[in-house]
Amino acid sequence: MQPCPTCDQIEWTVQDERDPTMLHWKLNPGLVFNEVLLGQRIPAEMWVCKACDLPRQERTWIPCTACGTLHANLLWGKGNAFGHWTGLWCPHCCEEIPCLRNVAALGVEKLLTPLRWVLRPLIPTWRRREIEAATRHRLVKHERPRWIRTGIVKFGGGLFAVLYGLPAATVAGAIAIGWLPTGLLGALLVGALPALALCLVGGFVWGAVMHHQMTRRG
Ligand SMILES: [Zn+2]
Ligand SMILES: [Zn+2]
Repeated sequence: MQPCPTCDQIEWTVQDERDPTMLHWKLNPGLVFNEVLLGQRIPAEMWVCKACDLPRQERTWIPCTACGTLHANLLWGKGNAFGHWTGLWCPHCCEEIPCLRNVAALGVEKLLTPLRWVLRPLIPTWRRREIEAATRHRLVKHERPRWIRTGIVKFGGGLFAVLYGLPAATVAGAIAIGWLPTGLLGALLVGALPALALCLVGGFVWGAVMHHQMTRRG
């Protein structure tokens, strides 16, 4: 294993598929939103330096399996966290960095196969854009991410869109074409508020867990 680019020590904790955060990424169906719509990807392997006295986010490195370069996790963090539908690409050797995939997102992508055929010609351009973005992002000074706010707004909102928005739109459509009684519309609206509250609480908990994980020292 390579030494830590910050402190030059070799004291790593390897975070891979067996880690609870990573397992959560694979199994939580709410993350379909993050993967399929936002194009967010989590590398399959991350190294966390135990010797650095920095917030977790800043001592997490992503090894390129092809060339061995260690990339700062922040390269695909704030400002470059989304749009990675073609995966993460090493800005050093231009090879793909293996990512974890959410099981439900893979299922949804299977259903979207025709769309993927249509978009296929754009893939090489998108990959080039990805490598450029990661290279550019190396030079950007990073702000500390605000996990709780992100959790409530993006994760909670996304969860609501997937778990309530999609079914509600389907039911509303069925009502519009007369397959379901109009009376259900009231129930749908009454249900929106508790569902939203639940999702926002879920988002807050997610944000709090991420905040704890990422800012933990030692
Ligand atoms: Zn270190
Ligand atoms: Zn590489």
